[in-house]
Formats: sequence, C-alpha cells, structure tokens
Amino acid sequence: MSFSSFVPTAGLSLRRARPDDLVPFRLRRVDDSTLITNDFGAHLFLDDDELTPFVHGEFESGGSLWARLSAAGFLIETLDREALVDELREKLRFLRYGPNLHIFITTLRCNHSCRYCHASRASMAAVETDMSLEVAERSVDLAFQSTSPWLTFEFQGGEPLANWPVVEHIVEYARQKNALANKSLMFALVTNLSLMTEERLDYLIDRNVQICTSLDGRASTTPTTSSLRCSIAGRRRGSSATSFRRAARSEFARRALPLQP
Ligand code: SF4
Repeated sequence: MSFSSFVPTAGLSLRRARPDDLVPFRLRRVDDSTLITNDFGAHLFLDDDELTPFVHGEFESGGSLWARLSAAGFLIETLDREALVDELREKLRFLRYGPNLHIFITTLRCNHSCRYCHASRASMAAVETDMSLEVAERSVDLAFQSTSPWLTFEFQGGEPLANWPVVEHIVEYARQKNALANKSLMFALVTNLSLMTEERLDYLIDRNVQICTSLDGRASTTPTTSSLRCSIAGRRRGSSATSFRRAARSEFARRALPLQP
C-alpha cells in the first residue's frame, strides 16, 4: 500500500512534508492509526486527523502535532543529535570491536541422548572428540586477540563437564592472561548438570561461572519420553540435578552473585 493511499486527497493538491523537516521514516497502517518509525528506533501512532497535515507538511510550528513529532524524535530541527549519535554508537558497538562471544566445545561426548539434541553428541567412549589442553590454550590465546574489551567464554558440548580438566584449565588460563589484558571477562557453562559434583559446583561459583541448563519435565508430563532427557536421566539423576540447581541458586544469592533467570 502506498503512502498516499492512506490520505484523503480529494480536493487537496498533495504536498508531502519537506524532506528537510522530518527524519526519514517508514509507516504502516495499524488498525485505525498509522504507525511511523525511524532508524533511531522512534515510533509514533498518528490518527487520521494528524496523518493528513503530516503528509502535507501543514502542521503549525509549536502546535500539538508538531509537539508530538518533536517529542518522539521525528523533527530534524529539534533533534538532540549528540544524544542520538551516542545512543547509536552504543547500540552498534559490536561493529567497532572484534568478537565478544567465544564458544569452546570441550568435547562432543555426552552421557545423555536427548531427542532434540543439535550438538552432534558422541558416546562417552569417544574421547578422541575431547579438546586437548594445548588446543584449549591456543583457543584462549586466539580469543584474547579480539579487540573487544568484553570477552565471554561459553563452554558447550556434548556435555562440557565430561572434559572437566579442560574447562577448569581454560578458566584458569584465561584469568591468568586477563591479569595483563584487563578485559571484562565472563564465563558460562551450558550443562545437563548430571556430571556436576559439589567440588565442581564450588569451583564454578567461586570463579563466577554462569550455569545455563534446562530440565525436562517428568515422563508423565511429556507425550513421548523414550529418548527425552528426563527418562534417560532417570528419577534419581533428575532429582540430583534439581538439587544442584537449588544449591547453586542459594549459593549465588548468598554471595550476591548475578544469576541468570
Ligand atoms: S544433554 Fe545436551 S549435548 Fe547431551 S544429548 Fe542432550 S542436548 Fe545433546
């Protein structure tokens, strides 16, 4: 639908708002209003009484439509350019730096076999898929070459806990390197929790490693459970994971550490 098709033109000679009055915008009809948006993320709903003068550039300076357009950031003459540039620079900061997120597949081995797995998991015997300490260090070195002042190292698999020594080594090696690099360094572990131990959990909490997990529902609440995680983990292991999660929550709260919802 074209722009002018929204506007009653009978009896009017159409005169669009002058390009130098308005920030370039897009528009879309939404119910009885017209939504206008611009590249700075501003938006405004115009009713039909406002749309006509808007399109014709016939709104009074200082009038109500002018004030609404100005407050929403559609009038060039009243734009706070400095603020907009700062906002845009922050929003697009990833364009000015190298990669921030670095994912370490510490192994493809996993002790589960979830139907929805997209991780090309291998059996627990496939130790040849484990990342070596040497590759781990070279990967950390490479990540630190990024110009980003923020680095996030995320452990995935397979089940990364199946290759725990390498997870631990990467955390220590990265922290050691960061003593010099002084970047904002974060760690996250994506795990099914089943290989978690109290010692590992203590270590992860101590190093402020975020833990990301998912817990499948009970077999009775899922229609086909034969290969879903809950049925393989079993009741005993499932409740163990739940208790780890609860313990992690309370420990993170006790130490006032950030915990992802
Ligand atoms: S726990 Fe994760 S890696 Fe293992 S089979 Fe399930 S989805 Fe795949």
